[in-house]
Amino acid sequence: MGKNYKFDVRETPVKIVTMARDIDYLEFIFDVGACDTSILHEYFNPTKTKQITTKRLDTLASRPYTYIFKPEAQEYRKNKNYKGTIYDITEDGISLLIAYGRITPWHAMLRKKLGHSGPHAFWHNYVGSQSLGSIRLGLKQAGITYVSKYELFERMDFDSKRSPLRVDLGTDSYIPDDLFGAIYPDHREMFLCEWDMRSEPTERISSAGTSFMDKPRKIETGLAQIKKHFGIKESPFKVLTVTTSEGHMHDIISKMRKMPEPIRELMAFQSEETFSPLSRGESIECPRCKGGKCYQCKYTGSAIRPPDARIFQRDWLRAGLDPFNIGGEHGKEAATAT
Ligand SMILES: [Zn+2]
Repeated sequence: MGKNYKFDVRETPVKIVTMARDIDYLEFIFDVGACDTSILHEYFNPTKTKQITTKRLDTLASRPYTYIFKPEAQEYRKNKNYKGTIYDITEDGISLLIAYGRITPWHAMLRKKLGHSGPHAFWHNYVGSQSLGSIRLGLKQAGITYVSKYELFERMDFDSKRSPLRVDLGTDSYIPDDLFGAIYPDHREMFLCEWDMRSEPTERISSAGTSFMDKPRKIETGLAQIKKHFGIKESPFKVLTVTTSEGHMHDIISKMRKMPEPIRELMAFQSEETFSPLSRGESIECPRCKGGKCYQCKYTGSAIRPPDARIFQRDWLRAGLDPFNIGGEHGKEAATAT
């Protein structure tokens, strides 16, 4: 079997009946991308034991179902014992979502045009699924309606041969990494997202390659086209960047200070080092050890901190302007409640 036994597809001896919750898991993965068992658990089953979520996902990844699979790239994590299994959706899983009417074939076709490809794509996209997962969890806890990119695509006018995220700027283009909306009691807001794994320099050092600062410059010159493409009229919107390096974030923010105020107002930043595949994660006291050390934590007394709504709850930093909070007053209330 070799070292990759973890990625062999098992057979499940039990015949399963698909339940609404299974479809919920698939829809979440379809939207945010390949994600951890832990975020699916915190989002859908926070009051139950994690085994319920783990076992069900394992069954959904086993023959003859295989609605989800374990991407092999996760093998290269710094400490794979420290974090949960990452699942992505299969073509069969997508077909099941279509059969249940949760998505249409058009949505499935658009999903193929999104995201990055290449050797770093998996981890770049995983920074995105952890960030968006954390934001979705926060919106849910705060009672603010989340609007997926697929729903927003329906209202946009674009060339469906290309990624719906691609904004044509004449000789150039601007493509954010992700998109979502939120419906507040009194207004709607749209958020473009940038997921940054510290793989590009803040400023380019030669004419080759790209730098992060190309993005605010494109947003500045192409603001009218960006608003038109995403159907942003009077309503406010923001460009959220999550980076895995705090130093890189401060470097970007200091360079942002030269940008005009309307761009500094739009662009907001957070860093989260634990979203990097090189991170060992954050440890907490093992919740199972009641007085003594237990088998669950292998007698170490520590456990991995489960995913939470931190990306939603925290303030986003802006260059030369006050930070802002996605939830506004709702977010602050949700933050103090947890
Ligand atoms: Zn323990």
